Amino acid sequence: MPIQVLSDDLASRIAAGEVIERPASVVKELVENSLDAKSTRVDVHIVGGGAQSITVVDNGLGIPANELATAFQRFATSKIDESSDLISIGTLGFRGEALPSISSVARVEAISKHAESDAGARYLVDFGKSNSIESAGAPQGTRIEVSGLFTNVPARLKFLGSAGRELSRIQSMLASLALVYPHVAFSLSADGRERLRTIGSGKLIDALSGVYGAKVAEQMLELEPGESAAFSVDGLVSSPSLSRSNRTYMTISVNGRLIQSRRLSYAIEQAYYGFLPERRFPIAVARIQTPLGDVDANVHPAKAEVRFLREDLVYSVVQRAIRGVLSASAPVHELGAGRASGSIGLLRKPGSATIVGGRSSGNSERSTSSGFSQWPDPSLISEQSRLPETPTGAESESGDGSVSTNTHKETLPVLRVIGQSHETYILTEGPDGVYLVDQHAAHERVMFEQVRDRFDKNSSESQPLLEPATVDLAPGAMTTVQEHLENLKRVGWGVEEFGTNSLIVRSVPAALATRASGDGAGQVFLRVLDELRDGGSGETWSNRMLASIACHSSVRAGQILSIDECKDLIRLLEQVQRPNTCPHGRPTVIQLNINDIEREFKRR
Ligand code: ADP
Ligand code: MG
Repeated sequence: MPIQVLSDDLASRIAAGEVIERPASVVKELVENSLDAKSTRVDVHIVGGGAQSITVVDNGLGIPANELATAFQRFATSKIDESSDLISIGTLGFRGEALPSISSVARVEAISKHAESDAGARYLVDFGKSNSIESAGAPQGTRIEVSGLFTNVPARLKFLGSAGRELSRIQSMLASLALVYPHVAFSLSADGRERLRTIGSGKLIDALSGVYGAKVAEQMLELEPGESAAFSVDGLVSSPSLSRSNRTYMTISVNGRLIQSRRLSYAIEQAYYGFLPERRFPIAVARIQTPLGDVDANVHPAKAEVRFLREDLVYSVVQRAIRGVLSASAPVHELGAGRASGSIGLLRKPGSATIVGGRSSGNSERSTSSGFSQWPDPSLISEQSRLPETPTGAESESGDGSVSTNTHKETLPVLRVIGQSHETYILTEGPDGVYLVDQHAAHERVMFEQVRDRFDKNSSESQPLLEPATVDLAPGAMTTVQEHLENLKRVGWGVEEFGTNSLIVRSVPAALATRASGDGAGQVFLRVLDELRDGGSGETWSNRMLASIACHSSVRAGQILSIDECKDLIRLLEQVQRPNTCPHGRPTVIQLNINDIEREFKRR
């Protein structure tokens, strides 16, 4: 074929592919236009997951009748002009591509009344073919209805999910926008049923309550906007008593623009390290402010990603803020503080147990029979063990840079060992009931703090192996070793490169010595590396490394312990900083409250 310029129609449909991928992208573009038009209400109606129709109604500035047709031309925008600096853009839109893109792959009806006109106007574009402007009665604002999306692009249609799937994408996208714009009242209805509603009070907590419900809102912690004016973050993050099984509950905005950023989500996730069990994720809204010139929003057709000039700085501002508020509140770990202030009813609901350190770590701990033996639902626990206030003694944690170590000491009640159960749990009696201690989790906590203290003081001990072990590394693992060699040495590993993909392990951290010798040492080293493979960098990395060493030097579930060994372990646990959770955030201790035991036995 000879080289020729594509027709406008074809060029638009190709371009539309970049901006409009699915119904949720239509909703995003239309709602962003409503927000740019300073709307205070945005109502979205969906039929058939958006494939049948999407209607967005706003009460914004409106479009003058004589500009309505222009709005649908490619690269037509009222938001920038020749004098604009493409870096510092304050509006959500600026490319002038959304309306033409949408109308090239759907039938679009726009009705708008501009603030300063007497009457509204109606304009119809049918898969790229425009009609004439008609006058129409309308309230101030804009109503855009998009129907038959992609019926002229069968390839696109084929890639759409079920109506339910597309709707849930729309819902989570709108939820995120509602969180970033708490002063706008949003609603979403699908096939006539309301799915989401926020009141637009301007308070983030109200918006969050509208999106996730009042129960969740009660368990959110407020991020304090940082000191530095240029880079700051505010928002809400879930207390460790609340978590989700996937990453979709993290909303991030930069200078008011909703963005997706793997790195920033990861920064948030990592801030919870030690506060949440593995594979549990927080609910978070992080609203980042940076100088406008520090972000480039023009790197992604749907503007979902941005580029930061100083990404590491943003990353650490976010992490520090979250770490600070988590350390300061540490709600699930604070048995001692809660009891001292008399504010915590350890167990109010009959027929359930209270987990001292937080959540139940898995289904295995829940029996299906009713009544006494039933372990509580984590949401119940979190409500009961949530503290109303920040405990004293933890203020120094926020904002001074030393946010990573919690100097506030948790207390464990004095426990008398009764025996061991299932070769895994130490059964004990305390002042307020019966306590079960997970022997591995407890020992892990003890070892973690020992190993960490030595590491911090640069006094880790190393134990030479009688026979050095040779290990073959997985592809890419050598880079991890080289990158972190300093920290590995500092904690007591003596390793040497041996060919391209193998290592010789000559010595091991002393804590590991009894459990890892000879080939065992190599195996443990490999396992530690595995656990650290994508474990971030800096402090997070060393914490994970220490946790992993602690894990491998601790007693396992299934190991028989004598009464004396049980007692020793409990004494050691009493002395650590945070006895109530293991370094990965799982509880070490679970309590059965004496009041409930008495109630269950009908003694009162
Ligand atoms: P962009 O948002 O990048 O400017 P669009 O194609 O999304 O491009 O919209 C084109 C123009 O139409 C906008 O610049 C704006 O002037 C106008 N417009 C679109 N939607 C609305 C709305 N809901 N309220 C007011 N004006 C709107
Ligand atoms: Mg737009």
